[in-house]
Amino acid sequence: PAIGELIRRPEPTFSFEFMPPKTRDGERLLWQTIRELETLRPDFVSITYGAGGTTRDTTVAVTERVATETTLLPMAHLTAVNHSVAELRNVIGRLAGAGIRNVLAVRGDPPGDPMGEWVRHPDGVLYAEDLVRLLRESGDFSVGVAAFPYKHPRSADIEGDTRNFIRKCRAGADFAITQMFFEADEYLRLRDRVAAAGCDTPIVPGVMPVLRMATIARAAQLSGAPFPPALLARFERIAGDDAAVRALGIDLCSEMCQRLLDEGVPGIHFITMNRSTATREVWQHLAANVPA
Ligand code: FAD
Repeated sequence: PAIGELIRRPEPTFSFEFMPPKTRDGERLLWQTIRELETLRPDFVSITYGAGGTTRDTTVAVTERVATETTLLPMAHLTAVNHSVAELRNVIGRLAGAGIRNVLAVRGDPPGDPMGEWVRHPDGVLYAEDLVRLLRESGDFSVGVAAFPYKHPRSADIEGDTRNFIRKCRAGADFAITQMFFEADEYLRLRDRVAAAGCDTPIVPGVMPVLRMATIARAAQLSGAPFPPALLARFERIAGDDAAVRALGIDLCSEMCQRLLDEGVPGIHFITMNRSTATREVWQHLAANVPA
């Protein structure tokens, strides 16, 4: 099925994001996690594309293996970094050949410093929007794009960020998934400004619980915004107690997901970091609140 259609049905979708493994141990961990999370029967799972286009083969291979060996519906991420249009067409052809119909089209960051200069491959594309068009021309794909509650770190202002997001949607994106964020209001503001601009592309929140203090700095770097100060203060008070930090992270993430579901989000996409326990814990909190 097309993920764009699943996301438009009335009940929210639940989905999990994995990264292609880099080592044999990483591969074992990923497959153990996939098998554990498969029992939760998510609507789909996604497999990221390594920074700088480095995991082209593993992303395609893992996505294909999920499609053939599990009951899960996989989506492959695809980035434009360091790829010519011919190479992009080749990857898209391999995905199509493996029966993969769902792709998340993101521009990708330059290798090394994610905020370093973005240099277009001489025969490549410049923006995610171009990747969306390429996928649309290449076959019957359901195409997703990225959305940024705090605006993309490279965008000068929220208005320009929103305009560019809508361009991607008009280029043929069926749905969007957000970068991680830690306050439901950040997502709701994004949803409102996109809707106010006349765009009805469904936007699925991407979430990841804080499990240790180090996640906070990493999250701030990825989301392009400081971690919410009021929440940071709560974590800092218990920073020496790893178990308490983890428990607070799971609680806050569960509360935020519940609020988002109450607000009628089209789904929730969990960034798993290839581990299952935290995702299962948040899931169980939510499941406990779903009326039977
Ligand atoms: P774009 O939509 O191209 O936007 C990039 C910047 O250019 C923005 O500031 C935008 O406002 C601006 N812009 C866009 N169009 C125009 C235009 N026409 N004119 C002027 N300015 C414009 N990275 C990976 O490497 N692998 C992954 O698998 C991956 N998965 C991700 C999944 C999700 C859900 C998210 C949120 C991000 C993911 N990323 C991934 C990170 C992503 O590649 C980076 O955040 C990247 O910097 C931005 O990608 P984008 O697709 O939003 O870019």
